[in-house]
Amino acid sequence: MAQNNNLYRAISFDGSTVVSVLDATEMVQKIEQIHKPSAVVTAALGRLSIASSLMGYNLKGKDESITLQINGGGQTGTLLAVSDSSGNVKCYAHNYIVELPMNSHGKLDVAGAVGTDGTLTVIKDLRLKEPYVSQVPLVSGEIAEDIASYFVVSEQTPTVCALGVLVAPDLSVICAGGYLLSLLPFASEDVVSTIEKNIQNILPVTGLLEKGFSPEKIANILLDGMNAEQLDTAIVEYKCNCSRERTEQILIALGKEELQTLAKEQPITEVACHFCNNVYKFTSDDVLQLAINNGQWTVNN
Ligand SMILES: [Zn+2]
Repeated sequence: MAQNNNLYRAISFDGSTVVSVLDATEMVQKIEQIHKPSAVVTAALGRLSIASSLMGYNLKGKDESITLQINGGGQTGTLLAVSDSSGNVKCYAHNYIVELPMNSHGKLDVAGAVGTDGTLTVIKDLRLKEPYVSQVPLVSGEIAEDIASYFVVSEQTPTVCALGVLVAPDLSVICAGGYLLSLLPFASEDVVSTIEKNIQNILPVTGLLEKGFSPEKIANILLDGMNAEQLDTAIVEYKCNCSRERTEQILIALGKEELQTLAKEQPITEVACHFCNNVYKFTSDDVLQLAINNGQWTVNN
């Protein structure tokens, strides 16, 4: 089935404002299908994944990636979402089942589940010697505000971030999406007040998606009065890039002795991927082969 483009980027005519909008409904549906979280964890992981995808898509280089990690001290434990530079995402949570009453606004209590006492860590792997790591304290635990705070504190870019996930009572995902709007330093006072007006009037992102608004239409609402032009558009999805070869590398990294012990102690060694739940199975013989065959372990006489 041909999928519609779900990510849309636009720029204001004066070049001062860039928006990226994502309809992440299918992406978050897949998160729900793979990880089977409770509703509030679906919302938390969905929001973090949407932000990760939007930020990943904004990376420049082909093999670059971005990892967003939240440690808020709440019952979900660590939440992690990784995006490649095409905006494709994978994610996991330490605890998938957290049950909390709705918050005072009648919404899923994401901040309650994630916790508010901790940090958001952004790791950008730009294929340099070291990844670029930046950590900011959580400001709300609702994730969108925390992402916006990261942009202000670490990138000195005033940014509006909205993230939304609507979960049905049967735990299925009705719709999900979000946007990032970044103001460049030369944005004029007029631009700022136009954006403020647009943001004040716009519906929550899940409300827009429920009405059937496309990412393009949402971008045009955000940039109303600013002669928006399309930058680009893409299909992004939940995607894990694990493989048997990569799993072998993880095993090899255990070292020869550890591998020999594994091979002796259990007939089958299973390695599960936290992002997609794929399980890779290695027999004792496979494990021994990894211990022996790898060049790293050759014994020189
Ligand atoms: Zn995987």
